[in-house]
Amino acid sequence: MSISFWTDALISDLGRRGADHLAELSSTLLDILLPPTCLLCGDGIERGDLCIDCEVSLCGSWPALVVPCQFCGMPRSKLPVPPFDQPCGGCPAKPYPFKSVTPMGIYQGAVREAVIATKRAAHGALASSLGVRLGKLIQRTDFVDQIDCVTFVPTHRWRRMIRGGPSGAQRMAISVGKVIKVPIIESLTTTRWVAKQSLLADEKRELNVRGAFRIKRSYAWQRSLNLRDQHILLVDDVLTTGATAKESTSVLMQAGAASVRLAVIARAVKR
Ligand SMILES: [Zn+2]
Ligand SMILES: [Zn+2]
Repeated sequence: MSISFWTDALISDLGRRGADHLAELSSTLLDILLPPTCLLCGDGIERGDLCIDCEVSLCGSWPALVVPCQFCGMPRSKLPVPPFDQPCGGCPAKPYPFKSVTPMGIYQGAVREAVIATKRAAHGALASSLGVRLGKLIQRTDFVDQIDCVTFVPTHRWRRMIRGGPSGAQRMAISVGKVIKVPIIESLTTTRWVAKQSLLADEKRELNVRGAFRIKRSYAWQRSLNLRDQHILLVDDVLTTGATAKESTSVLMQAGAASVRLAVIARAVKR
């Protein structure tokens, strides 16, 4: 091999190592100037994005010996061992249209605080961080290999403008898709303004979202996205009555999806 080959290789290696050192130095300087803080409580942390206390509170909201029902997400006791492939006592009389629901936690304490914080655009990083944790949970399920794509419940564009960025659910879905390595698609959009579900009584929520969503069309040809035979993972922040997830699922199924599974950060539990 010629001397110039080795010279070029040496210069290239020095350049790469120089860039690596520069990136490391910038990161260290940033840590000194802006010490990392927990995305939820703001306490100083050494690494990661949440402090140990918040991490434990977020991941430990399911009491021992309790698991979520795969059909409605409500807590069900592990004892005596129930038939997990059957609906629980809390399942609605008319089954949800989604095939299963995977809630990361119960909508209380730190989980509730975190979900409420992600409603503000300033907490986009927290929404992404929660999405990573939800993605890791999905990664451990027995259906992860069947998922073709990840999508999220839609938000009206005015609400996104008021918020000043993507919705929390969208950021969560992007993180989930990255963790389980499947495409993230913006499949749904709104047909009209939708009042905030959290401000309405349970019985008014279904009416509030009825007919409010449709499949998104491509900008160029105005053709609806082709979802035929797709196994879709739908992501939302919280499951309360299920009205939004049900309406979203119905639209996806009418568009030809083979199945829709729901993944949420939190399951609201009536006391
Ligand atoms: Zn914290
Ligand atoms: Zn159930």
